[in-house]
Amino acid sequence: MPSGGPFEEFALVAPQLSLEDARLIAGELFAAEGDVAELASHQDRNFLVTTGDGRQMVLKVANPHFGRAALELQNAAMAHVTGARLAFETPRPLASRDGSLIVAVERDGRRYDVRLLTYLEGTPLDQVGHLSARARAAIGGIAGQVVRALADFPQAGAERALQWDPRLARAVVDGLVRHVRDPARRELVERAMAVHDPALAMLAGELRVQVIHGDVTRYNLLGRRDRAGRLVPCGLIDFGDVGRTYLVAELAVALADVAGASSDPVGAMAEVVHGFHRECALSEPELAALFPLTLGRAAAGAVSGEHQAVLAPGNRYVVDSTEVCWKGLAALAALPAALAEAVCRASCGFEPNPSANALARRLASARPCPVVDRAGRHLRTVDLGPRSEAFAFGEWRTPEGLAAAVATRTGELAIGSWGESRLARDEDAGAEEPATVHLGVDVFAGAGEIVRAPLAGVVERRERRALLLRHEPADGPWFWTRLDGIEPTLDEGLLIDRGQPLGTVASPSGALPAHVHVQLSLAPLDRLPAFARPSHRAAWLSLCPDPSALIGAHAAPRPRDPEQVLAARQRSVARAQRTYYERPPEIVRGWRQRLYDSDGRAYLDMVNNVACVGHSHPHVARAAARQLGLLNTNSRFLYSAMERFATRLTELVPDPLDTVFLVNSGSEANDLALRLARSVTGRAEVIAMEGAYHGWTTATAQISTSPYDTPAAEDERPEWLRVVPAPNPYRGPHGADDSAAAARYADYVRDAARGPAAFICEPQLGNAGGVLPPQGYLAAAFAHVREAGGICVADEVQVGYGRLGRWFWAFEQQGAVPDIVTIAKPAGNGHPLGAVITTRAIADALRPRTSFFSSAGGSPVSCEIGLAVLDVIRDEQLQENAHHVGDRLRSGLDRLMTRHALIGALHGAGLYQGVELVRDRDTKEPASGEAYALCERMLELGVIVQPTGERENVLKIKPPLCIDVADADRFVATLDRVLSEGW
Ligand code: PMP
Repeated sequence: MPSGGPFEEFALVAPQLSLEDARLIAGELFAAEGDVAELASHQDRNFLVTTGDGRQMVLKVANPHFGRAALELQNAAMAHVTGARLAFETPRPLASRDGSLIVAVERDGRRYDVRLLTYLEGTPLDQVGHLSARARAAIGGIAGQVVRALADFPQAGAERALQWDPRLARAVVDGLVRHVRDPARRELVERAMAVHDPALAMLAGELRVQVIHGDVTRYNLLGRRDRAGRLVPCGLIDFGDVGRTYLVAELAVALADVAGASSDPVGAMAEVVHGFHRECALSEPELAALFPLTLGRAAAGAVSGEHQAVLAPGNRYVVDSTEVCWKGLAALAALPAALAEAVCRASCGFEPNPSANALARRLASARPCPVVDRAGRHLRTVDLGPRSEAFAFGEWRTPEGLAAAVATRTGELAIGSWGESRLARDEDAGAEEPATVHLGVDVFAGAGEIVRAPLAGVVERRERRALLLRHEPADGPWFWTRLDGIEPTLDEGLLIDRGQPLGTVASPSGALPAHVHVQLSLAPLDRLPAFARPSHRAAWLSLCPDPSALIGAHAAPRPRDPEQVLAARQRSVARAQRTYYERPPEIVRGWRQRLYDSDGRAYLDMVNNVACVGHSHPHVARAAARQLGLLNTNSRFLYSAMERFATRLTELVPDPLDTVFLVNSGSEANDLALRLARSVTGRAEVIAMEGAYHGWTTATAQISTSPYDTPAAEDERPEWLRVVPAPNPYRGPHGADDSAAAARYADYVRDAARGPAAFICEPQLGNAGGVLPPQGYLAAAFAHVREAGGICVADEVQVGYGRLGRWFWAFEQQGAVPDIVTIAKPAGNGHPLGAVITTRAIADALRPRTSFFSSAGGSPVSCEIGLAVLDVIRDEQLQENAHHVGDRLRSGLDRLMTRHALIGALHGAGLYQGVELVRDRDTKEPASGEAYALCERMLELGVIVQPTGERENVLKIKPPLCIDVADADRFVATLDRVLSEGW
């Protein structure tokens, strides 16, 4: 192989030493006697030394290529950074027996410089599958802090010709690219350098220079898990690349690694840059140079790696990390450079693209010719976003529904807006945030109408259904107009005038009716996407500014950020009413088992048992609308819906339950149940269970014993309340292996009773995460209560109504018949509707004391909704579906449990299941922090699930009953991914 390139002679063949050599050196020279183990290194040899008393240190044997001065520089930089007392740890050199920090040793006739450094504990970040947004920002923060700490480090003598220095990317590529054999890879390098070279030529003089660490990458960052099991970067090692270069190169190195390895490089870049800028403010020229430098570093890294792999083909570390470099380079080179710059600017609070305003002003004064002649038509902006009224029942998924949404009256021309988020049609793409933000405007003109050039320009590209025009104003930035959905008649290269015909509107090709998509761009992008991800919104919209002026309309809605909605809610709504999630998305639509946020993203909803027949069910919505237009009044009037609904309910329960009260909620239903029991018995005492929730009214809150829902429950227990242990075979005193567990738990009820009015419980412990009591528990407990003269109340608010699959009511699973059944949540599919179902005798006990009246309880609208819900459960066989899909879900979860120690137990049946998370299967220490953090990650991956239980460590799975097998599988796969990769 011919040699000669500037980095050619640098053969990174690591020093040749054995473990035994290392052990002797550590002991003899540094008084660190103990075991040694090899640690990975690119260029040196590193050994972990563990002494007899458990202390750990790193013995570093330097590659002789670098020379002693470089090691002295590294030691000084380490000491400098340590002295700055940063928020993370860095290693320190330790003195040898003779007091020096660097000791020379001879092996096989070669001289090596050796140091002993402190050892930092932690997991190298390259070893985890997922880095959270917070972790990525922390990486940027660490890079920023190091740069700040080294700002006053003496620069003299710190100039080094290191091939990892982004400033030398061009020289490294020139010197080593001939080692890259694959032409596609060479082309990739060229593409990256084509962005790098002109930018650096222009900006180099404006970049600050100082000493930097030079290798803030996942390989050198160590993380520890916090209480929520999230990996938090907390240590930075390996000062081997310390040197004087551009300040912003520190960030470029981190970006090349972290963004390159991310499935969303743009998002990762935004987070890392934001973290850096908070610690060390970047200038605009530095931000302009950042992505080009990142590409340069990625290209140089890949080329160097290839060279090293040629020199040391057996070094797996080199070979593997080189492959990672190539992947990263490919991911970064695929990004439009202008987008990357806009993203980096936006993350630092700068306007993403300063040219966008200038273009807006130019367009305002240039009076463009409308792309499609209005011909006297009135322009009507149509709503194709997630809130659109045209999309009540999933219509956005069909061409007919979309056609109806853009249909206009005669004399109108429909316009689709720029910046509008459209509903994602491919809802099950799932894990990645879908590209929903519309980067152009749509003009829904008829096929065959003439399309004109809005401004003078050149036809840069002609495609089968599109034209790209370039505009080259003398006094401002060039820009491009893309017209899609047309039949072009002009050829590439032609100069065109404002208003010149370019072709005609084409017949439709996708789901939308015929339309011209008009999009501006401030960058010469090869492939201009029509949609962007919502998290990249600001950057993309600055690159593809509002083209409304080109159609003679204003079609740019200003969406409200979910954070603004949250802030407004916090101002006007009581704080006690919390929201799910740290940064809750704004949910604007529900359809079947999915919820849609204001960006049009679909989430699989695994938590809404209330919407039992599915969100926005047409049969239910139409029943409500029909009745709202007919009559809605109170139950003192006679109307048939009440009697029809009550009869349907009594048909669903066993004898002797035959009488119904209709109310608005579960709290109201349970409150009334207590009232009934007390009226019948003339007593006050209530027996309730540990960990229970029965409602928020004064009486139901008093019997809600779960500290999660009612933190003051324990302190404020009324004297009439008896609390019994929950029949929880996993956590209670009697486990699943005790064949007499049911009787033993029931005995607690017997022993608690002094003279009970009522015993109330959920027949499946929904609030505890769906725990099923041991078989026979409820029948035995009810017998004890009845013997003591009490009334047995089954709270079926959460768990009833077909959810368990094999049983319509959870008490059926227990073979018991209650005296009172309370229902709510699913009964109205989200509309406030609850009921108390009991015997005639118990119901009549209320009469002498009070009349019963709840203004909206059992209203005609509520009853029609209640009937419609029961129709759907029957007609769509949702109980059978719960059984079938529930079994599938359970077998998937069973498989996960064999592989993930965090899962301590699985509870429930059908579509009420619980995944109980524990830190240790023996101690059963609840993993509640982990449960919440894991749910945040599940949300990012498009799945809504939440923790429940008094320990807040059980994932409650209680989706709409219409979910299918594919949804169950997706849930299991997503949970598997999160448990495997981390969160
Ligand atoms: N009982 C149980 C078991 C519940 O889970 C709930 C609500 N979480 C209620 C009663 C109270 O129902 P509502 O919120 O409709 O008042």
